Amino acid sequence: MDNLIQYSYVVAAALFIFGLKQLGSPATARRGNMVSALGMLLAVIAALLDQGIVEFQWIALGIAIGAVIGAAAARLVQMTAMPEMVALFNGFGGMASLLVGWAALVPGSATFTLVTIVLSILIGGVTFTGSMIAYGKLSERIGSGAVLFSGQQVVNSLIVLGILAGAVMFCLQPENHTWLYLVVILSLVFGVMVVIPIGGADMPVVISLLNSYSGLAACAAGFAVNNNILIVAGALVGASGIILTQIMCKAMNRSLANVLFSGFGSGKVETTVVEGEIKPIVAEDAYYILEAATNIAIIPGYGMAVAQAQHVVKELAQLLEKNGAEVSFGIHPVAGRMPGHMNVLLAEADVPYDQLLEMDDINPRMENMDVAIVIGANDVVNPAAREIESSPIYGMPVINVDKARTVFVLKRSMASGFAGIENPLFYKDNTRMLFGDAKESIGNLIREFS
Ligand code: NDP
Repeated sequence: MDNLIQYSYVVAAALFIFGLKQLGSPATARRGNMVSALGMLLAVIAALLDQGIVEFQWIALGIAIGAVIGAAAARLVQMTAMPEMVALFNGFGGMASLLVGWAALVPGSATFTLVTIVLSILIGGVTFTGSMIAYGKLSERIGSGAVLFSGQQVVNSLIVLGILAGAVMFCLQPENHTWLYLVVILSLVFGVMVVIPIGGADMPVVISLLNSYSGLAACAAGFAVNNNILIVAGALVGASGIILTQIMCKAMNRSLANVLFSGFGSGKVETTVVEGEIKPIVAEDAYYILEAATNIAIIPGYGMAVAQAQHVVKELAQLLEKNGAEVSFGIHPVAGRMPGHMNVLLAEADVPYDQLLEMDDINPRMENMDVAIVIGANDVVNPAAREIESSPIYGMPVINVDKARTVFVLKRSMASGFAGIENPLFYKDNTRMLFGDAKESIGNLIREFS
């Protein structure tokens, strides 16, 4: 029986790895999800048998309650609220590791086990409250800006010292639970402190980092309860989260240390003074320009998700192609509110993958574009990142839509994007603002074509 359990773990680990590999391409991602889920089912069954648990009623009750809440949440959540939901999932993963680590504490635990218990509580606690703050920022229940106050570094250093002292004392005197409680409380406080000073355009890095932490916490919990498959699964999540974090840092042209410790915008105050005037356009006039265009770039952003405009965007792209134009989509790595957000939406609308170009591939072609249609994107097309040294996003690579002959910006108002900064693109000579909900505006364009 024991061998069978260990073999099942190996098969489950292999399924996780194959699943992850398949998740790497949109064409196989759906299958990758199924394969990984199958691996998880196998891992859970094997782990339960491994523990020799005979009383399944509490586990069954837990599964039933969790399944009802999970299924309801998945059905009810709006597509636009997916990023917040992912943040919540990360947070619950962290909380689960904290509780598993805590529950693993039995009298007479070896020092190694005590260390892993502290680690799963520490990383799990930071992940939980950090993710709750990220959830608040993404859902705009709290401001997305950086929260900074004088003496912040000192307070953070004291918290870290408190955690270290509590951890050491707990390992020395595990029977005195006061130290463990200290670590639990300070870890939860530290999670809040880590995420509040990061705001604006730096949030994608935090989201992917918290994702990685949730894996590391699970890995530590795996060591605490001595379960190989939890260690493997946690390590896979931790490692892939770190790779994603690296990709996000590269996309923002920032180092991780810079994101974590500088406090977005702390040194740089928005001083952008934009010159020029806003030139609105109506759908009928935009139609004539699009009708004559042969090279067209579509750059989607968070507003496309809000408007749920992906299906009409696909319809418009097809009409433009039928009219003889070549249409490509420019995807910025941090467009939207979660990594891969635009890819998910466009895949849902069945936009062919070969039409999607990454930022580095579309930028060199921008000068040849007759029209760039910006659909609810703002920060990721902001030329201030290139032109204005005092801008908080200066140095972040953006899609250079302003280099196209004509730019249409589809948004509802002059409101700023997530980073909360002015966008000089809207005032450029070659920019025309097509105000209104993106889905409605595109619907109007489609009507003009037909
Ligand atoms: P932005 O948040 O910069 O801008 C979105 C724009 O969409 C707004 O200016 C808004 O203007 C417009 N909009 C909203 N609703 C509609 C609608 N119904 N129809 C038309 N337009 C609409 O989005 P970007 O995608 O350009 O940039 C993403 C930002 O989010 C970056 O700052 C990024 O760092 C950050 N972020 C990204 C994460 C990720 O992982 N991808 C995670 C966390 C943050 P208006 O209100 O006038 O319509």
